[in-house]
Amino acid sequence: MSAQFQIHKDTIDQVSQRADIVDIVSERVVLRKSGANFRGACPFHNGTNATALTVNPARQMYHCFNCGAAGGAVKFLMEIDKRSFSDVVLDLAKRYNVPIATVEPEKAKEIQRQISHRDRLYEVMALTTSFYQHALYAHQGKAALAYLSEKRQMSKDTIQKFQLGYAPAGWETLMGYLVQQKQIPVSLVEEAGLIVPRKTGNGFYDRFRDRLMVPIHDTRGRVIAFGGRSLGDEEPKYLNSPETELFSKGSILFAMDKARDAIAKADQAIVVEGYFDAIALHQAGIEQAIATMGVALNADQMKQLLRYTETKNVILNFDADKAGITAAEKAIAGFKELVFNGTVQLRVLTMPDGKDADEYLKQRSAAAYRDLLKNAPLFLDWMIEKILDGQDLNQASNLQKSSQEIVQLLKKLTVDANFREKYISSSAQLLSQGKSYTSLQLIEESLRKQLSNNDRWNNTKPIQITTTANTLYSAEIQLLQIYLHYPEYRACVYESMEEEDISFSFSNHRYLWHTILELIEQKKTSLATQEPYPNHLVRQLQIFCAEQDEVAHQLQHLLWLDENSRIGILRPQMVIRTAIATIQYVMCEKREKYWLEMFTTKDVIADPEFGYHCQAKIQEEKRRKMEFQKLIGVNYLDLSGTGTNTSEKNVIEF
Ligand SMILES: [Zn+2]
Repeated sequence: MSAQFQIHKDTIDQVSQRADIVDIVSERVVLRKSGANFRGACPFHNGTNATALTVNPARQMYHCFNCGAAGGAVKFLMEIDKRSFSDVVLDLAKRYNVPIATVEPEKAKEIQRQISHRDRLYEVMALTTSFYQHALYAHQGKAALAYLSEKRQMSKDTIQKFQLGYAPAGWETLMGYLVQQKQIPVSLVEEAGLIVPRKTGNGFYDRFRDRLMVPIHDTRGRVIAFGGRSLGDEEPKYLNSPETELFSKGSILFAMDKARDAIAKADQAIVVEGYFDAIALHQAGIEQAIATMGVALNADQMKQLLRYTETKNVILNFDADKAGITAAEKAIAGFKELVFNGTVQLRVLTMPDGKDADEYLKQRSAAAYRDLLKNAPLFLDWMIEKILDGQDLNQASNLQKSSQEIVQLLKKLTVDANFREKYISSSAQLLSQGKSYTSLQLIEESLRKQLSNNDRWNNTKPIQITTTANTLYSAEIQLLQIYLHYPEYRACVYESMEEEDISFSFSNHRYLWHTILELIEQKKTSLATQEPYPNHLVRQLQIFCAEQDEVAHQLQHLLWLDENSRIGILRPQMVIRTAIATIQYVMCEKREKYWLEMFTTKDVIADPEFGYHCQAKIQEEKRRKMEFQKLIGVNYLDLSGTGTNTSEKNVIEF
């Protein structure tokens, strides 16, 4: 709908008064009450913070602490749907029954007509849905109903919930109903994608004939298209509605309207390939499932899903025949950026014995499927496993080939160095097949070297365990995250900091630490291993942040532990030691620089005593640096295992 007119100020004012910001935002974002406000994940940036977006009902405003997005209901809809101001206002006016006035009164009629046109398309789809539903239970729908209840084992409730139906076999059955009985103009039925013009002569015929009909709903639960499955041998087996004013298959996810709440609750979305897989999962009580519309998932759809899960956890359910590397790469092609930069925690679920989800549920159980879900590996782990699958790594050429493939894969990662480092180490472990420590080290070195060659090729920095500002920053973050999210290690962090006389280098970290120390002093938190209630400290800090806009966005990322961070902190004690060593290393480096500067700028020939002193200091810092470097390196190696195959005795104490 394009609006080429000016809406009257009265209409805009009334819309602004009636449209409730909480209603509008909660249709797109899962909101939780938090004091007088509501909070949720911000849909305007790819953050992992589940409480970045605040919605204030009193002021009728939303605001994101991370990206700064802010405004009222109209702005929210404009930004999220990329629509114009007048489109949004008109839509809201219609929804809240606000009469539309334009600056030029004669245009009002035209606008009303455009709005009612969309409404009438929805109405045609709704009429058609009940027509198909009705036909399913009539004599002609007998075979279709039997197929659903027997072959697909669908309950009456499920058939009802998904509004499944049957398109009768005649050429003009639906058309007769809509056009003759319901007096709908032929042009509108055609526009809705339900009839097709005859190739010869005049007239139209029904697009869907003798098919099982699956309505496709938008997120507000309105039918916008159909998928039709043939019951006999007719091709194609699945026939979808064409793209219409209401339906664009690249932006719709099947069953999203029914899965939304479950996705938020389970903090996970399952993506399956077929409607019937999604329906079967819902029937089995696994309601966080959605299906793609016969095309691979794209970035827009993925972002839609990510809005509803806090930990950005999405599981791709592959059919066994598609579970190869090439098929997997194809399946993620539309959103691979989001995978490799860590925005989505993508997991892969492959069905055993060549089954799809529907078959699996029938032959096994919902509980068995839930087990598969629980054990679904991260995409990268799965890919590495696939690369190594069936390879005889005792043969040098195989080892070479596999390690090259792994390098190609890791090269794509754009997440931070620590994350990649973890994969280098775990891949090296797999490649060395637990042979000897030396071969593990050699392979790891070789992977790192190949990757850094690639990096130079890509003109980015090689990965090394060095203490750049970046690793220092990560180390500080890890210490704070452990302190915030692992109460049992609080004393350990606190004491290590005190003992080694360590302070944070980055001002936001310093600020947070200072705030924590103040809370301890005020007895609002303590070093006790148990908190009065879960996330006690984090919540206090969140409230604190909510009140100080200017610091909030610098601290929010610490208050929420995403999957990458969780993986990074599998063994908190080791992480604390590594982080402390990293910070100490940097402190040594600073001191070394200081003495070097002294040595070069002061006249040491005039004061040889001072020159020797400087030299001694420089040497001392160099020596300490090497010690810390060793600790950092050792711990990295040790941390690289996922914790399952690294036994405690390998931990080097210091
Ligand atoms: Zn944001």
